Amino acid sequence: MGGSKPIVEGGIVIDLTRMNRIVELNEDVGNVVVECGITWGELIEFLHKRGYTTGVEGPGSGMSATIGGGLSNNTIGFGSTKYGPCSENCIGVEVVLPNPDGDVIVTGSGASQYVKRPFSRWGMGPDFTGLFLGDVGTMGIKTKAVLKIYPLPEYREGFTFTVPEDYEFVVKVTHALQRRCSWGVSDITLTPSAVVMLYSLTDVIKPWKDMLLMKPVMMVGIEADDERMFELASDIVHEEFAKPGVTELGPTLKEGNIAEWVGRKQGQWQYFHGVFGVLPGHFSCTTCHKVPLNQMPEVFRTSDEHTLQKLEEYSRAYVASVTAAVVYMMPRGECVIVGGMSGWNKPEMRETNLKLWKERLRFQVKYGGVHYWLGEVISQAIMEANAFPPKFTKFFKDVKRTLDPNFLLSPGKFHFYSAEEE
Ligand SMILES: Cc1cc2nc3c(=O)[nH]c(=O)nc-3n(C[C@H](O)[C@H](O)[C@H](O)COP(=O)(O)OP(=O)(O)OC[C@H]3O[C@@H](n4cnc5c(N)ncnc54)[C@H](O)[C@@H]3O)c2cc1C
Repeated sequence: MGGSKPIVEGGIVIDLTRMNRIVELNEDVGNVVVECGITWGELIEFLHKRGYTTGVEGPGSGMSATIGGGLSNNTIGFGSTKYGPCSENCIGVEVVLPNPDGDVIVTGSGASQYVKRPFSRWGMGPDFTGLFLGDVGTMGIKTKAVLKIYPLPEYREGFTFTVPEDYEFVVKVTHALQRRCSWGVSDITLTPSAVVMLYSLTDVIKPWKDMLLMKPVMMVGIEADDERMFELASDIVHEEFAKPGVTELGPTLKEGNIAEWVGRKQGQWQYFHGVFGVLPGHFSCTTCHKVPLNQMPEVFRTSDEHTLQKLEEYSRAYVASVTAAVVYMMPRGECVIVGGMSGWNKPEMRETNLKLWKERLRFQVKYGGVHYWLGEVISQAIMEANAFPPKFTKFFKDVKRTLDPNFLLSPGKFHFYSAEEE
């Protein structure tokens, strides 16, 4: 989505991947301080060896994606059903500001010169950490981040179910699991039947290919530190799925239980690579966004209708579109529709791809979808859809101007090009 490329003429790219040190592990207060160029893969390996996790363990691209990228994109990933997005687990950052002096500031409890080691995000003023989370790098350059850590659960397991073709069922079972077992359920996802079929006909999920699956699939991950709690969580999951039309796959990966691979064997960093590359010669124009969970069935209906209306135009441009490759359940009745279009990767198709992609994004913004990894394309589509009333846009631009008086960082995102322009 054009997050890290210069948008206007003459821009530069800053590569932070050599700033990859783990600065301190604060076991007593449960956090780790890292330089923002470290990858999720490197950090998770370090923490797992010491019996810890970050809860949500970064995006599917986590073997190469950095902590700075995850925080700037408000990334979600496996673990998010229980722990929320990465940003919710960040309690402070060190930032180089794009002002003439290049001031370096620290947010959260670390802002106080009397605090020896960071331990809290809140207090002593507004939540300034939040200004630099989900900002797609427009507000400052994060050099260090303080992330919460949790004991690595002793017991973890993944279950995979084929479920009825009924989004209301998915909403109901998710609400029930989160009400009864929010402490034990770390992941809930839905893969719609059209995508399951696509995977079954290709090599993306090999065990499903052998089974030729055609029904929607839900994956559930559970975790606990105590065997009795673990058994209780497993019982609750199986009670909620003991419904007509539901079949459990497994228990082994070979028998189709891919939740076992994704949740327990770090398949989270392989799963999405297959998904993103499902059509050879194409590239992903992602349309990932969040909606309230109760709204999900309606979103599928209107979104599929929109695709049908556009079908002729899409097929002329060799564009394929899915409402969701997967739906990721978040805490508190929110879900993430991880969807996208697949554009033909030819220079002469660029303009058409961009037009169709932005059109789709504006359509989603207008039904109330909230996008979170923005970059050039998605941030601009939000503005083009007039999501913000003028007073909010002014506020947003005023904040940007205060931090970045010359609009040095990522000019063009959100269609903000210079301090003067209205
Ligand atoms: C195969 C694949 C799977 C993916 N899976 C998921 C997923 O499961 N969930 C999800 O949410 N997303 C997913 N994504 C998108 C994901 O959010 C990004 O890939 C990832 O967070 C980007 O990290 P990065 O280090 O590559 O950042 P970049 O792409 O380099 O940068 C991302 C943005 O952050 C800014 N930025 C980066 N570092 C800093 C910093 N230190 N200070 C200030 N700004 C900075 C950049 O300017 C840019 O706007 C996936 C992408 C791919 C390609």
